[in-house]
Amino acid sequence: MDALVIGAGPAGLMAAEELARAGRHVVVAEGKPSPGRKFLMAGKSGLNLTKDEGTETALAAYAEAAGPLGPILRAFGPAEVQAWARGLGQEVFTGSSGRVFPVAMKASPLLRAWLGRLGDMGVELRVRHRWVGWQGDGFAFDTPEGPVVARPRVTVLALGGASWARLGSDAAWVPLLQARGVSLSPFAGANVGVQVAWSPQMARHFGAPVKGVELQAGGMRVRAEFVVSSRGLEGGGIYAVSRAVREGAELVLDLAPDRTAAALAERLAVPRGKDSVGNWLRKRLGLDPVKLALLMEWGRPLPEGAALAALVKRLPVRHHGMRPIDEAISTAGGVRWEAVDDRLMLKAVPGVFVAGEMLDWEAPTGGYLLTACLATGRWAGRAAAGCVTSAE
Ligand SMILES: Cc1cc2nc3c(=O)[nH]c(=O)nc-3n(C[C@H](O)[C@H](O)[C@H](O)COP(=O)(O)OP(=O)(O)OC[C@H]3O[C@@H](n4cnc5c(N)ncnc54)[C@H](O)[C@@H]3O)c2cc1C
Repeated sequence: MDALVIGAGPAGLMAAEELARAGRHVVVAEGKPSPGRKFLMAGKSGLNLTKDEGTETALAAYAEAAGPLGPILRAFGPAEVQAWARGLGQEVFTGSSGRVFPVAMKASPLLRAWLGRLGDMGVELRVRHRWVGWQGDGFAFDTPEGPVVARPRVTVLALGGASWARLGSDAAWVPLLQARGVSLSPFAGANVGVQVAWSPQMARHFGAPVKGVELQAGGMRVRAEFVVSSRGLEGGGIYAVSRAVREGAELVLDLAPDRTAAALAERLAVPRGKDSVGNWLRKRLGLDPVKLALLMEWGRPLPEGAALAALVKRLPVRHHGMRPIDEAISTAGGVRWEAVDDRLMLKAVPGVFVAGEMLDWEAPTGGYLLTACLATGRWAGRAAAGCVTSAE
């Protein structure tokens, strides 16, 4: 074989496609019994492929990784991701927040079409082939037929990050790369919920969406929905601030972002009379049951008057840190940029390229994750193809 790609997620499949397009015989080895399991899971709640914005705007979402990702996303950014999906027969639409989805919403039709195209291009997919390390220059696999060693001319590793291990991305590759002297940043959950030890009264709100609230953390102000769950808070709004919270910022909620503290204080200046506190707050401030419950949970004993109004505007979330990394939508950390050259080839292991979430970048949700996975997969695949050609 000319080229080996390990990992059949979006990054690996993109690398395989580029290698095949360059006329290479490509084998994709996947540890799981089927390809793209996390990709399919991503489609369960609506496959957000990319953000409909210019590449330079999109790049800002990758924070410190915007530098190294710059040339890669300029070659394949939001517009190219949309064209790519259309090329696979998947019409896309842009939602109100600029997020782009396939009309089918899920990943399965796209993945089916993609695998079909790769098959037509001669890409060979070998499932249940788990890479377990190097044997000399060869790549050693555990397979149902026993151990196998592959000796490709070039390899692209696209093994994913360190969350949702049951879908294949278990980061078991970390010691394998470390043993070859590849420098890695520790993994941390990105786009992950916060853990809360709720009082029993909160149980009836589990599953309730919290809407129209502003989340504040580390200078960020985000107005997006999140959900109260038995384990804490999760969902888009929380994920958006999760990096700041992970890095130690206090998380605060503004339960009435459209009104000033003074306006709220005025509403609260009326005597409570015989109303319960809950009823009175509901009537005077129009807070819905879940917002009231959060106020009671973290604000009790409730102050009065202007202090209560201030609390509604600035309610500190009493949490116990982030939920475990395995629950994260994506992970920060992985192969450091210093460990690869500008082709995404490992400096310590020439001929081996890396792509996708196993590289050290993170971004908020919004389609940025898949965009960077596809773009780095394409970049690494092209560079790997060039590497074989130049050796001929
Ligand atoms: C619930 C959920 C929803 C999401 N929604 C979105 C979304 O809407 N938009 C978005 O942009 N992103 C979303 N994501 C994130 C996105 O799915 C990932 O960022 C993306 O799949 C990462 O692609 P990848 O190819 O780098 O890795 P992965 O998709 O993780 O693929 C890596 C592959 O490598 C295989 N592998 C690992 N180790 C080995 C080994 N030793 N040997 C052989 N094979 C191995 C794995 O089995 C896996 O198939 C979501 C994630 C989750 C969990």
